[in-house]
Amino acid sequence: MAREAPTARDVRLLPKAHLHLHFTGSMRPGTLLELADQHGVHLPEALTSGQPPSLRATDERGWFRFQRLYDIARSCLRTPEDIRRLVREAAEEDVADGSGWLEIQVDPTSYAPRLGGLIPTMEIILDGVRSASHDTGLGMGVVIAANRMKHPLDARTLARLAVRYADQGVVGFGLSNDERRGLARDFDRAFAIAREGGLLAAPHGGELAGPSSVRDCLDDLHAQRVGHGVRAAEDPRLLRRLADAGVTCEVCPASNVALGVYDKPEDVPLRTLYDAGVPMALGADDPLLFGSRLAAQYDIARAAHAFTDAELADLARQSVHAARAPQDVKDGMLTGIDGWLA
Ligand SMILES: [Zn+2]
Repeated sequence: MAREAPTARDVRLLPKAHLHLHFTGSMRPGTLLELADQHGVHLPEALTSGQPPSLRATDERGWFRFQRLYDIARSCLRTPEDIRRLVREAAEEDVADGSGWLEIQVDPTSYAPRLGGLIPTMEIILDGVRSASHDTGLGMGVVIAANRMKHPLDARTLARLAVRYADQGVVGFGLSNDERRGLARDFDRAFAIAREGGLLAAPHGGELAGPSSVRDCLDDLHAQRVGHGVRAAEDPRLLRRLADAGVTCEVCPASNVALGVYDKPEDVPLRTLYDAGVPMALGADDPLLFGSRLAAQYDIARAAHAFTDAELADLARQSVHAARAPQDVKDGMLTGIDGWLA
C-alpha cells in the first residue's frame, strides 16, 4: 500500500513579519502600468514584459541598470493618492502572504520634489500607512533609509526627520544602495542620531560586498539588524558574532538570485546562517523587479533548502522577534505560528 505523502502546510497561512520591503519596489506590476499611463511615463520593456528583468548587479553596470529601472518606476509615484495606493496594495499583498507586521523602507528624499518637500512627503506616507493598516488590519512600521551614494550630511538630515516621527510610525533607520561605495563609518553620526532617538539601526550590508561590510555595519553603525547580511556566511567568526549578539539578517533569497549575488536559490546560504544560529527574517526586497513576494521566500527555504515545517515556523518566529511591532501584535503572531504547526 502506497504511503500517503505528507501534505505540506501552506506557507501563506504561516504568520510572519516582513522586515525588508522597499517602497517603490513593493508596487504591483499592474499598478506600475496604470500609473505610467496616467502620468505619461514611458516604461522600458524590462518593466512592461511581465517577466522580472535579468540583472547582474554584481558588476557596477548591472547595479546601475537596476537603479535606473527603480528610478523610472519611482517616477510614476507623483501624487498623494499614488502613495496611498502603493501603501495600501503593499499591505494587501502582505496580508495575502500571511504577514502580520510589515516594515516598509523608504527614502523620502526621492519623492519630496513632487510632493512639496520632505515633511509633507513624510506626512503623506505615514497617513497612507495609518489608513492601510486600518483598512487591512496589518500592523505596519516605516524604516527611513538614507542613500549610501549621497552625502553623509543628507543622511543626518534624514535621521533627524526619522526621529521626529518616531512616535508616529517610524520604527527604524536604514542605509541602502551600493555598499561597495564609500564607508559605513561615514554614516556613523546619522546612525547615532537615529539610535539616540530610539530607532532601530538596520543598514544594508553583506549583499554586494563581503563579510567586512557586515562587520562595518556592526562596528561603525551598531546595527541591530542587517539588510541581507548573507555574505556573512563566508566568515564563521562573523556568523558566531551575529548569533551571539542576536543580530537578525533580513535575508531576501529571490532578490539575491535576481541580482546575481548567487546563481541559484540553492546557493543562498540559508542553511549556513540557520545552522550557525543567526536569526533571519526572510523578505521580498523589491517584488516589482524580482517577481516574487513574501511567502515565496519561505517556499524557497522549503524547496531549495529542505526546511521542514518546524524549521519554517522557526524562521517565522525569528522574523517576529526581530520586528519593531508592539508586544501584543508579536504575541498574536507567535500564537498563530504555533497553531500553524499544530
Ligand atoms: Zn534592500
